[in-house]
Amino acid sequence: MSRQIVVIGAGVGGLSGAVRLARSGFAVTVLEAREEPGGLASEASYDGFSFDAGPYILLDRPGLEWSFEALGLDLTAEVHLIRIDDVYEVESLDGSKVVFYSDVEKTAGGFEGKWPGSAKPYKKFVRKMERISRALRPMLQVSRPGALGLIRSGAWLHAPFLVRSLAAVLSDSGLPRPIVEAMAIWTHVAGQTKSQAPSPLAFVPALMHSVGPYYPKGGIRCIPQVLEQAAIAAGVRFRYSTKVTRIRTKDCSVLGVETERGEFIPAAALLSNSAALQTYLQLLDSPAPALTKRLATLPLQSPGVCAYLAVRGRVTPPYLAFKLGEGNQRCRLLIRASLFDSQVMDGYVPARLLAPMDYAEAERVGPAGQASYLDQLLEEDWWRRDLDDFRVLAKRTAEQWGTQYHLYANSMNPVMTGKFMRQGRVPHRSPHVRGLYLAGSSTHPGQWVSFCAISGILAADCLIKDLN
Ligand SMILES: Cc1cc2nc3c(=O)[nH]c(=O)nc-3n(C[C@H](O)[C@H](O)[C@H](O)COP(=O)(O)OP(=O)(O)OC[C@H]3O[C@@H](n4cnc5c(N)ncnc54)[C@H](O)[C@@H]3O)c2cc1C
Repeated sequence: MSRQIVVIGAGVGGLSGAVRLARSGFAVTVLEAREEPGGLASEASYDGFSFDAGPYILLDRPGLEWSFEALGLDLTAEVHLIRIDDVYEVESLDGSKVVFYSDVEKTAGGFEGKWPGSAKPYKKFVRKMERISRALRPMLQVSRPGALGLIRSGAWLHAPFLVRSLAAVLSDSGLPRPIVEAMAIWTHVAGQTKSQAPSPLAFVPALMHSVGPYYPKGGIRCIPQVLEQAAIAAGVRFRYSTKVTRIRTKDCSVLGVETERGEFIPAAALLSNSAALQTYLQLLDSPAPALTKRLATLPLQSPGVCAYLAVRGRVTPPYLAFKLGEGNQRCRLLIRASLFDSQVMDGYVPARLLAPMDYAEAERVGPAGQASYLDQLLEEDWWRRDLDDFRVLAKRTAEQWGTQYHLYANSMNPVMTGKFMRQGRVPHRSPHVRGLYLAGSSTHPGQWVSFCAISGILAADCLIKDLN
């Protein structure tokens, strides 16, 4: 069999989809607009230091393990995963801190010292979330986990949990407010409120204390690098610096793609790892009006702003230091990558300062406003208290993320709200165009690197089923 499949984009979703397809006997060509694979999870190098461009933590090792296994790869043999013990702290405006370790006893002990009586309910909450997340995990590994899937797997027992918001689930824990805010930090980072966020975000403490959070030696960027090598070994052809500008269709069936260079590449089917909104609203000529309307109203997530730093001085755990912002301001985050990274130059080590932004606000203030917001954060004292010196090697605004990583309207993907999760994210198999499949953060199961890898496999499986 040698039917030509084109994959648009070599992000984690596109790469895992390409490996899956090539291993099933398809001739696969990946067209990537950038010069390298990885998309948001690729490498960024400045002044001799190497950084992860975007992601910084692997919260879902089981999901990545499942993906690697599905691709015939052994995660632990391919990537050296370092368990993060001293995980994160959240500093409030008054300077008080909530600290999380991968050890539940140590975490709960710290809470008990500050908020007597909180250790027991915290451990109880973690146990409960562990139980529910285990029961619901199979839902992550099927393409359309609708009501039927929930019933068949027995996961329907947790349907009442799924219809609740993160705010409601956390409030039931009975824990003091600072702990609740610190547990919800992953929604601050994703640019949504607790009441919009889906309840499964409450699984993070459970994952952290059971499986543990991980940092791959050499950075998250190792993951797409391993996937690219596996794809090459499986016979996938890569064409970098090749941007797709149009998907050509006839009678709602895919014919192939046109590139920026005016070339037409025919394809029996397409797997698009370009954002779903970009694929439907910009690459296709005339999407159905109802679809356009639905997609255009989804709330978007800004990648925020980021500074890549070389720092000198005392760099001590925890790995991640979050600082809550004032009023409506989002949190900021210092990533102490050097705790797991051996890069040292003239006494300087790498670090990153990252801040999410509200999407509408980022668009309103534009590139200049985003840059000045980042400059303001760099002026803050909290992140450099223990440092003797620092150098800003590079800065990235939301607008630069957009242009450099070919994002849709400078957004990462539609925000994972509870409503969007329950409706089902954008389907892997397009119901509108025959031969079009979608992978990546806008599709099920979501935006973590592990989820994008799963999405590539699920999208490829839909394609394989249809073409075989
Ligand atoms: C600042 C930041 C921090 C993050 N932190 C974490 C974290 O700690 N942990 C975690 O798990 N996740 C994190 N994420 C999320 C995660 O990195 C992304 O969701 C994931 O990498 C996205 O993968 P993807 O497959 O959707 O594709 P993308 O990474 O978006 O890649 C898509 C690829 O397609 C290419 N492309 C797009 N359009 C075209 C076209 N028309 N023609 C050709 N090529 C095209 C792009 O150039 C890109 O290479 C973070 C993201 C950011 C930005």
